[in-house]
Order: sequence, then structure tokens, then C-alpha cells
Amino acid sequence: MGEVVPAAVLDIDLDAVAQNWRFLAGMHGGATAAVLKADAYGTGAALVAPKLFAAGCRHFFTAHLSEAVAIRHLVPGAMLAVLHGVLPGEERLFAEHDIWPVLCSLEEASRWRAFGQSKQLPALLHVDTGMARSGLSPRDIAAARDEPYLLGGLDLRYVMTHLVSAEAPGDLINAVQEKRFYEMKTLFPAAGASLANSAGMFLGEKFTADLARPGAALFGINPTPGRPNPMRPVVRLTARILQIRHVAPGESVGYNGTWTAEKPSRIATVAVGYADGFLRSLSNRATARFDGIKIPLVGRVSMDLTTYDVTDAPQAKPGDSLELIGPGHDADDLAVEAGTNGYEILTSLGRRYQRRYFGAALSV
Ligand SMILES: *Cc1c(COP(=O)(O)O)cnc(C)c1O
Repeated sequence: MGEVVPAAVLDIDLDAVAQNWRFLAGMHGGATAAVLKADAYGTGAALVAPKLFAAGCRHFFTAHLSEAVAIRHLVPGAMLAVLHGVLPGEERLFAEHDIWPVLCSLEEASRWRAFGQSKQLPALLHVDTGMARSGLSPRDIAAARDEPYLLGGLDLRYVMTHLVSAEAPGDLINAVQEKRFYEMKTLFPAAGASLANSAGMFLGEKFTADLARPGAALFGINPTPGRPNPMRPVVRLTARILQIRHVAPGESVGYNGTWTAEKPSRIATVAVGYADGFLRSLSNRATARFDGIKIPLVGRVSMDLTTYDVTDAPQAKPGDSLELIGPGHDADDLAVEAGTNGYEILTSLGRRYQRRYFGAALSV
């Protein structure tokens, strides 16, 4: 019996994820969480969560309650918090699973207090210092200063904010947010302080504070753009060549003929397309690697197929693999070619790839 040979393989190095977390945790004296929203940035929260738990991580964040419920049993006893907070009607599920909401408005805070009654269930509080997206505004905090009952009767473990431009250390907004945050924080002396995402951890102690919240850097995204990437690569995507065509000068390739051969060319077709999250904006812009040779993507990315010009790699043949994402050409590099960031590349990684995990933790 023959076996199905995968057309595209996504390798995910869980040991590298754990090493990245240990590296970040070692940068400061406070605690270091792991943000595992969007299925751990596309890498698979079901395997990443237990790996990080085994590495010593005891603080986890997701965006949605459903994401937190899905990993609760994998991180027993650890803090597990939902960035989006608690919607009306969800309170009981939070309490049942010992999941903490990140309270983002006065209404939510009063609802969580009312639900917990005298129990004072733990929560985090998100204050907005410049993102204007979620969290209590400076005006809400001023109101709570005048009317202490607004945020009283709550067991607030951490007060957090989110940075607008942490990856641009020269941006003055960082210092502005830090100042606004610590002013608001004076109202909650017993709570820990949490400001930093991955990039924010490189802005110093005021930012790493009591609890850092890295996500992207765990998965190899460079938290210090423009400087060498201190993180280990986690993701490698390879696609097998289905066939190689010889294209004569003047012939075009793909939908709408957006690329035309200028010389006799060898075109390799691989079974990866925008339905796999291989963004259409990579058309005529991305590059792959073969034996260290840079291979340009030519023509449009279509739904299930993409074409590369392997003229400069005469040894490439059907069945061989092109490296679409890898250590020498990582998610950040592909993102530049697509006109986006590495986050979008990772969180778009498709479900049709055969996933191979390295270094999975034994189940808890
Ligand atoms: C996504 C997110 C993070 C993690 O950000 P990275 O840049 O991926 O490290 C931290 N905090 C909040 C509120 C977030 O939404």
C-alpha cells in the first residue's frame, strides 16, 4: 500500500519555543508569561502550552475564553487569563475553569464583582495608556479615584497596559505610556505591574516589571527589528515540487500573466497557495531557498498552487522540496516580501500542511 506523500510540511521546533521562553524569562527578575492567542500564533497551543509548562512557565494568556478553556487542563494550577475579558453570561465558565478575566471596562469590573459576591474572584485590570482599543481610560481611572467603589471589592492581581510601538525603542510614546501607566497604577498598590509584550521586554526594567507578556518572540519573531534576532527559529515550511515546466521567452506564468519569461526558464510548481495562508500579496515578490540558492516566486499565488523560477537551480527536480520559510529566510523575511509582519505570516499558516512537532513534552 502506498502512503500519501505530503505536499507541504510545517516543522515546529517546540524545544526552540521553550528555549526562547527561558531566554526571555532570564532577562528580568519578574515573572514571564506566554501569550498563546490565535492557537499559539498558528503553531498549535495544544502542544506549545504543555511544553512551556514543563519549561517552568506559570502564567498564560489567550485572547478568547474558548482558547483558554481548550488549554486549561494542560497547564494545571497556572494562571490562565483571557485578554478580551468576560462577556455577559460567561462569568460562570471563567469561575468553573479557574480562568481569570482581564477586566477592560468599569461595567465589566462591576459585573465581575457582582458575580463573585463576597468571594472576590481574581482578575487582572487593563488600563489604556495610548492604544485606544480596550482597557479603562485615564478618565475611568480618575473616576475610580473619586469614587473608590467603582473598582473596589475586586481581587486585582495585576494591572496591565499594552504598548503601541514597543518595537521602535526611539518612539517617544513608550515613555509617555510608561508614565501614564505608573500614575494610574498608584491606585492599585497591591497589584503587580505588567506592560511589556515581546518587544517591550527590551525597553528596560520599568517595562519588564512584575509580569512580562511575550507572544511573538516565543515563536522566533524578532522582538528587536533592525537588530540581530536573539530568538531561535521555530518554524520551517517546505513544499515539494510537483512538476517542472520549461517556459520559452515571451511566455507568461499564472493568472493574468503577471510574469513573463525573458529567457528560457524552468518553472517549479508547488502545492501551496493562498488557501494555505500563503498570502496572495507574495505574488512576484517572495523568494524560497533550494540548496542555499535564492529562488524567486513568479506569477500570482493561486489558491492551491504557486510557481517558482528554478532556472538557477538546475539540479532541482520534481519531488524535491523548496524551503518557503526557514532559518535563512524566516517569517520576518517573508513578511517583508508580503508587505506585512511576521505575526500575520505565522497566524495565517494553513491547516493543510502536514505538521511535524519536535520536542513535544510528555503529557501532564
Ligand atoms: C498579543 C498581545 C501580547 C503579546 O504581544 P507580542 O508582540 O506578540 O509579544 C501581549 N499583550 C497583549 C495585550 C496582547 O494583545
